[in-house]
Amino acid sequence: MVAEDVLVSTPAGLWCPSGGFYIDPLRPVDKALITHAHSDHARPGHGAVLATRETLDLMRLRCGEDCAGTMRSVGYGETLAIDGVSVTFHPAGHVLGSAQIAVERHGRRIVASGDYKNVADPTCAPFALVPCDVFITEATFALPVFRHGDPAAEIRRLLASVALFPERAHLVGVYALGKAQRVIALIRQAGYDKPIYLHGALESVSRYYVSQNIALGSLRLARDAGKAELAGAIALCPPSAVNELWSRRFPDPVTAFASGWMRVRARARQRQIDLPLVISDHADWDGLCATVTATGAGEVWVTHGEEDALVHWCGTKGLAARPLRLVGYGEEDADVIPAEREAPNRDDDGGQGA
Ligand SMILES: [Zn+2]
Ligand SMILES: [Zn+2]
Repeated sequence: MVAEDVLVSTPAGLWCPSGGFYIDPLRPVDKALITHAHSDHARPGHGAVLATRETLDLMRLRCGEDCAGTMRSVGYGETLAIDGVSVTFHPAGHVLGSAQIAVERHGRRIVASGDYKNVADPTCAPFALVPCDVFITEATFALPVFRHGDPAAEIRRLLASVALFPERAHLVGVYALGKAQRVIALIRQAGYDKPIYLHGALESVSRYYVSQNIALGSLRLARDAGKAELAGAIALCPPSAVNELWSRRFPDPVTAFASGWMRVRARARQRQIDLPLVISDHADWDGLCATVTATGAGEVWVTHGEEDALVHWCGTKGLAARPLRLVGYGEEDADVIPAEREAPNRDDDGGQGA
C-alpha cells in the first residue's frame, strides 16, 4: 500500500480515488473536503462540501447561501467512513474552524494540514498534533529568516506607539478572516479596552466571531466616526486600504501592517508602513520543522510557499519529501504582499465583507 493509493496530487487538488473526494479543490468538483474558509482553499461551486460548522458558516457568509450544492458539517475528532476511507478533522490552529484532515485507509494515515500554526491564538482551537505516515504541509514561511517571535510583544509596540502619539490614529492592515480578529483579541489581552474601529470589509466576519463567543470588546465602524473621535484611536482595515483614499478620514495616521512578511524590512518600506508588526497565522520556519518532526511521518509532501527549502531540510533529516507544485493556494490569507494579489477592497468601505 503506497500513499498514492490514498491521496493523489492532481491539477484540481489533492484527490482521494477510493473516497471519490478532493481536499480544498482548486476548481469545482462533486465532493470536496475543505480545511478552512480562506478563499484560496474554500472555493464556491462544489456539489457537496464537508467541513467544520464554522468553516461552512464562514463560506456562506462570504460566498453566499448557495455556494455549494449541499453542505455537511463535521466536528473535530469525529471520524466518518467514506467508501472504505476514514476521514477525521483535527484543529489546525490557523483561523476559526480551520482543520487538518486525516485520511486513513488500510492502516495508512495521511494528514493534509491545510494552513496551520503551532502557537496559541485566542480566537481558535489550538493545533492538534496527529501522528501520521505522510504529512502534507504548507510552506508559506519555510525559510530560516522567518521567525515570527512573540505576537504579544508586537502588540505592546503598537500600544506604545498609540500612547506616544495620542493625537494620531493608528491604522493596522490585517486580512479580513482570522488576522483581524486575532489582532483585536491580542489587543484586548494586552488590557486595551477602548473601542476599536473597523473598515466595513472586516465587519461581518468579526461579528460572526463574536457570535461564536469570541470576545472582541467594543467594535465600531470607522465610517460612523468623526475625525475627532478617531484621534488616538486604533482602526483595522484590509492591507490595501492602509494607504488609500479610505485612510484620509483619519487624523495624521500611523500606518501598521500585521503580517509574517513584516520580518523583511524591505517589504515594510516598499509599502510605506511606519510600524511593521510581525504577526502571522502560519507556522514560521521553526514551527514547520518542529511540526514535521513531531508527526513522526516518514514522508512529507510540501505545498504552497517555499517548497524547495523545506524539501531540502527534510532530506537532511532523512525524510522522504517532495513538492506538490499545486498552483492556486496562498492567494488570500497567506500574508501575501504583492499588490496584484491584494484583496480587491479598493473602494471606500465597500464590499460585503470579503
Ligand atoms: Zn489560510
Ligand atoms: Zn493557504
